[in-house]
Amino acid sequence: MGLSFTFLGSGTSYGVPMIGCRCAVCQSTDPRDRRLRSSGALRSGTTTLLFDISPDLREQALRANLDRLDAVFLTHTHADHLHGIDDLRGFTRLSREMLPLYAQKDDVDFVRQHFNYIFDDNHFYLGWGIPRLDLRVVDTAAVQVGDLSVQPVPLRHGRGSAMGYRVGGLAYLTDCSEIPKTSYPLLQDLEVLIIDGLRWREHPTHFSFEQAFAEARKIGAARTYLTHLAHDIAHAATEKLLPKHIYLAYDGLVVNCS
Ligand SMILES: [Zn+2]
Ligand SMILES: [Zn+2]
Ligand SMILES: [Zn+2]
Repeated sequence: MGLSFTFLGSGTSYGVPMIGCRCAVCQSTDPRDRRLRSSGALRSGTTTLLFDISPDLREQALRANLDRLDAVFLTHTHADHLHGIDDLRGFTRLSREMLPLYAQKDDVDFVRQHFNYIFDDNHFYLGWGIPRLDLRVVDTAAVQVGDLSVQPVPLRHGRGSAMGYRVGGLAYLTDCSEIPKTSYPLLQDLEVLIIDGLRWREHPTHFSFEQAFAEARKIGAARTYLTHLAHDIAHAATEKLLPKHIYLAYDGLVVNCS
């Protein structure tokens, strides 16, 4: 099974550059320092999955030539991972099919409540002007979508939780500050680990670089990519400082995996 993962966005919640910031990274001309909000598309030969629904989804989809999705997997409900939800109508307008959106039980409830216009039958007169979403709960059981088996990987994100996802030899673990003991067995023999690495300084709800390095060593993937990067990370200068087999994500980067 050949997989390719496209980083649609690699930035933290504000995006990079941040509005009004005059720091060196926010003014950088290196395209790798321009980061839309974090999300990714995973493609096999026949199946395409979207991880998270960034507020930048429309621009990301256009940039990556993404016009068909088989399912969406939500990591958690923070705005930077969810608020592009209305733009999913671009996909369901074309497919004329309900699009499965998988999330943890509490997150499914949150989405239904906060975006009730999508799920309220009284609004169905809007037809395909709204995204047609089929909310589905994930717990710890693998979910089959087309030719892909998606294994949820529970994570801690500050005092809350987030869901990581593993498909084949690749795991996508954004927005986490702790990996529960019970999740490590789900992360054995990885080829590609994509993990939250916000910045060098510590943060209450995200892994710092040093913490992400420690997790990368513990998990032992052949290659590790740091994502959800803040505006204090200059790509070119920082990549020289990283341990072997650890890389910085950037928007548009495509990673292949078996
Ligand atoms: Zn986030
Ligand atoms: Zn800045
Ligand atoms: Zn978050």
